[in-house]
Amino acid sequence: MRPSQSAPHLEHLTSHPHFQVVLKILKTLREQGYQTVLAGGCVRDSLLGITPKDLDIATAAPPEIVEKSFQRTLAVGKAFGTIVVVEDGHNFEVTTFRKDGEYKDSRHPEAVEFSDIEEDAKRRDFTVNALFYDPITREVLDYVDGVQDLHACVLRTVGEAELRFGEDRLRMLRAVRFVAQLGFQLDSKALKVIQQDHEEIKKVSNERIFAEMKRLLESNYAAEGLETLRKSKLEADILPEIKDVQLELFSNFMPVRSWENGFAALMLLSGTSDVEPRLRQWKVSRDSLRKIQAQLEGCKTVMNPASTRADRAKVLGSEHYADILTLAQGFLPGNITIIEGWIQEFLEVTAGTGNLPKPFINGQDLLSAGFQPGEEMGTLLKTLYEAQLEGEVSSKDDAIEKLKSLALT
Ligand code: ATP
Ligand code: MG
Repeated sequence: MRPSQSAPHLEHLTSHPHFQVVLKILKTLREQGYQTVLAGGCVRDSLLGITPKDLDIATAAPPEIVEKSFQRTLAVGKAFGTIVVVEDGHNFEVTTFRKDGEYKDSRHPEAVEFSDIEEDAKRRDFTVNALFYDPITREVLDYVDGVQDLHACVLRTVGEAELRFGEDRLRMLRAVRFVAQLGFQLDSKALKVIQQDHEEIKKVSNERIFAEMKRLLESNYAAEGLETLRKSKLEADILPEIKDVQLELFSNFMPVRSWENGFAALMLLSGTSDVEPRLRQWKVSRDSLRKIQAQLEGCKTVMNPASTRADRAKVLGSEHYADILTLAQGFLPGNITIIEGWIQEFLEVTAGTGNLPKPFINGQDLLSAGFQPGEEMGTLLKTLYEAQLEGEVSSKDDAIEKLKSLALT
């Protein structure tokens, strides 16, 4: 079979801001007689009409030659054949065609051996990830029928699913993540193998699991990805707290605004109030933990019928307001009037500015009036500000009157 096929001009690739630099790198290696092409995700995405993230390069040149051919290089992945070429202030990964040796620990090959382009295609995980593109001849090089799978929207392993998932257990979760990113169907053989071996995902580190889950949650087809996580039985090992969630409901939250927003939606749907243990296990940053907790709290507050106008104003005036409204909207599909009502009310409270007003009375005012710093003063300030947000006091003078009555009681 002739592996190459002429492709039309891949517009999403050639219009990529780094394309010209990449072309220069390709030509430099090619002029020395080494076949050099674009590889992996960038070829897949361009063929799908999506702008690729990174332009990765694969070459017949050994790493030492790559290092010698460019002024600035980093040898971070040299043992696996990857040299980072720094050009125009950007990093480009140039990886020598390779064949992976025996796998140890269900994750990493014992050793790698440099080889040719066809063997390099065969070591890759999924057929749609094993495509190459030569931008000079405009040829797609396909040794694994990846183009066919791309057209059929199927995610299939390169070679025997059992063997490929056995070599590297992370691939089971990568499969689910690519379903979420591409909206593809997971091939039935691959699904069967994951269902049978799902518990083996325990051999993968929590950091890697989180990295894949994060990408799943921020994907366009996150709901489909979550369905596949469940169907493949990986859900029980990775996120058992969502086992009773009706996943169709997750679609109401789409598009989520970030992975944190998607995670918060799942936690609300599952009724999980303490999210910290899972997020700590995944070693999520403090900032993300704080965002998720604020979104969960905020959503509960705006949805709670017992909340006051001041409670809602504080939520909508916070930096998390857009995430919180996405969550509330997901819970109240088709019931936009309630949310519009909150926004209207918030605009009233903020006199149309969308910014919470400054308190009429601040701590300095109370100190000047002879109050002692402490818990009591904090409570007074809070009560006064809430009265202001509720519209009970509408000027500094009103607030002073209210303060007098509060101080007397
Ligand atoms: P994205 O655009 O989302 O980054 P990608 O396809 O570039 O997708 P990466 O994880 O960056 O995904 O990997 C780059 C390429 O390296 C893949 O397309 C695949 O060919 C290969 N690859 C990455 N990880 C594995 C793995 N665990 N097993 C086999 N091949 C892999
Ligand atoms: Mg990539």
